[in-house]
Amino acid sequence: MKQIIIAIDGYSSCGKGTLAKFVAQQLGYVFIDSGAMYRGLTLKLIENKIDISDLPAIENACKDLFFEFKLNQKKGSYELYVNGQNVEGSIRNLTVSNLVSEVAAISLVRKHLVRVQQAIGKNKGVVMDGRDIGTVVFPDADLKIFMTADSTVRAKRRFNELTKAGMEVSLTDVLANLKKRDYIDSNREDSPLQLKEDYKVLDNSNLSIEQQNSMAMKWVRESMEH
Ligand code: C5P
Repeated sequence: MKQIIIAIDGYSSCGKGTLAKFVAQQLGYVFIDSGAMYRGLTLKLIENKIDISDLPAIENACKDLFFEFKLNQKKGSYELYVNGQNVEGSIRNLTVSNLVSEVAAISLVRKHLVRVQQAIGKNKGVVMDGRDIGTVVFPDADLKIFMTADSTVRAKRRFNELTKAGMEVSLTDVLANLKKRDYIDSNREDSPLQLKEDYKVLDNSNLSIEQQNSMAMKWVRESMEH
């Protein structure tokens, strides 16, 4: 079967990861959550008390970090390891969420992580989700999907996810964080989140997961036929 690259970009908490995981499983492809890498780096900056204005220290931190996605057999999903440490439990909390978009707006950070992401995808057969996958990381991706949904719907979904994972958060804080990240991600100078004409738009505000999955798989089949 033809191996392709599938880029899934879009706003925060639209379910990009859920869709990317499903598509990757269906095709036997590698799934890469590029946002987890920005989160992993942000976590390391916080742990090492590196200020986001200290560019030389951030550059050194980038060089020292080694990212791996390993399969958690029990959960059936991939988890991020930074320098051999499983960071999945800490990268989605609000402390990291509140800083990650500012870290991701730093050009040297983007340059570094984009290179790592491109290396992972060089053999094709990959589904990667993020903000700049179809515009910068893989501009020649065979299929580009742009996901969006009403911000209140997104905040409720993310709130349920976080509270289920045992985190104490308020819906107001979650919504404020989504809006803040969407604003910074769409307005930064370096590779902002942008809906270009070569994307297929998937607004899942009123779609079930099954409906969204079958819409995406139809696009996947079409891309493979070309
Ligand atoms: O996808 P997720 O919401 O976990 O990403 C966290 C943050 O990482 C985003 O809000 C964005 O600031 C940044 N990001 C990015 N480019 C990507 C993926 C994520 O700037 N490709």
